[in-house]
Amino acid sequence: MTCTDFLAKLTDFFDGTVPPELLAEVEEHIAECHHCEVVLDSTTKTINIYRNQELYDFPPELQHRLEASIMARCFGPRPTK
Ligand SMILES: [Zn+2]
Repeated sequence: MTCTDFLAKLTDFFDGTVPPELLAEVEEHIAECHHCEVVLDSTTKTINIYRNQELYDFPPELQHRLEASIMARCFGPRPTK
């Protein structure tokens, strides 16, 4: 699993729709990738706040922010045209 795959599965992971074999891949990836581990940890905290407020809905802008931040960390800043 790559960081891109991890991000693609992140919403499913929190929806609880991840099959066990994929869950194992996710856990294997975060064991090896500190960046994704941090992302998962901070996302979990954010979602817990949403859930506590009974306003749980994974916001698309959060997904984009996470993606941008992890891509920057793992692959460096993207060149701008
Ligand atoms: Zn990663």
